[in-house]
Amino acid sequence: GIKVEALGYRGTWGQQFSVMGSVEKSDGEWDFNWCDVGWLRENFDHAYMEEHVRINHFRNHYELTRKNLMVKNLKRFQKNLEKDMGRTEASKCDFFPSTYAMPSEYHLFVEEFNRNPGSTWIMKPVAKSQGKGIFLFRKLKDIIDWKKDRSRSEEQKDAAHLDSYVVQRYIENPYLINGRKFDLRVYVLVTSYVPLKVWLYRDGFARFSSSRFSLSTIDDKYMHLTNVSVQKTAPDYDPEKGCKWQMQQLRRYLTAKYGREVVETLFGDMDNIIIRSLQSVQKVIINDKHCFELYGYDILLDHNLKPWLIEVNASPSHAPSSQEDYEMKYGLLEDTLNVVDMEGRLTGQEKRVGGFDLMWNDGPVYTEDLNLQTFGSLSFTANTHLGCVNDREKNLRQLLKPFPLQKKI
Ligand code: ADP
Repeated sequence: GIKVEALGYRGTWGQQFSVMGSVEKSDGEWDFNWCDVGWLRENFDHAYMEEHVRINHFRNHYELTRKNLMVKNLKRFQKNLEKDMGRTEASKCDFFPSTYAMPSEYHLFVEEFNRNPGSTWIMKPVAKSQGKGIFLFRKLKDIIDWKKDRSRSEEQKDAAHLDSYVVQRYIENPYLINGRKFDLRVYVLVTSYVPLKVWLYRDGFARFSSSRFSLSTIDDKYMHLTNVSVQKTAPDYDPEKGCKWQMQQLRRYLTAKYGREVVETLFGDMDNIIIRSLQSVQKVIINDKHCFELYGYDILLDHNLKPWLIEVNASPSHAPSSQEDYEMKYGLLEDTLNVVDMEGRLTGQEKRVGGFDLMWNDGPVYTEDLNLQTFGSLSFTANTHLGCVNDREKNLRQLLKPFPLQKKI
């Protein structure tokens, strides 16, 4: 059996792994470790790992998953693109709202703030999650008071930790459905940074806020923050109805409203966000053959159906909010293990494993059947199917030969 060590796992861990086989913990030895990032920080550097061992984070995952570092890496990547390939290419990275690290870039922020009178900004702690510590503001005075309070309370603390917030342009025109704001959760599995190998999961969801959106109040977190953990505490939250739409439902809704072409452009733009954000850290992340990472991307659509990257999570929640959500996350984790393939059941040439489609393999991956266009030229279609049918079980039956023990005699 495979020895598995599971630490700090949120959600339905035990059940997930009974699918895999035996769960053994003995004398701290493991073959597969689904750990939290705290464990990684303390143990990774001292751990001796045999060839076959796998672990679910890269050593310095925070280069992408901490809000300030993600933006720093994206800005640098965009600048280099502009230098090497020109403006047009660099403009393909225009998918993150203008962001400044606080307090180190305070003066740069003030300059931009003054250039955009009346705009709304959002202040976020870099290393927190679930909407904690976030607030919106429109007046510089609000943040000056906040800065004073903070410097008073943090005087004793280590100066190295000072850059603990980012201030970001608030997207004031989110795309609304039934008057409500939502953001998207997209799952992306990276199995290698050098060469870059990326898988996109077909399922995901939209998280809605429970109050109708309006810019007339900026203090209402139930209106402006779409985190499930925030919405769950709303006074009128209905656990039966929840606040989620599956990605398939959203894709169908948008297709019915705008047609296939518009939706394909939108989903193509999301592919672009995923690949460029990963490329922006490709040279920074310490690549390691033992590591893989299942990221939770948070993407917000604006009124013009332009997707914006809000953040990338290293430990997306696996806690289910409904039966449907449970089944989706169960499949997601099972397929993550199928791609990681510790039992060596795959050939390594697969472009699809369950609900995961290979979207990047040291370059773009295209679907099997190249469409012959009317003009006689070949068109290449990206091998991504976010929000499309996820007939993962059928695919797995075809793909995975049964374990020897499961063969009928
Ligand atoms: P956390 O890590 O605490 O979840 P996020 O950066 O994901 O922090 O922000 C929480 C929520 O706030 C998001 O899900 C989104 O609804 C909203 N939000 C964050 N940044 C912006 C922004 N720039 N414009 C509009 N809404 C935002």
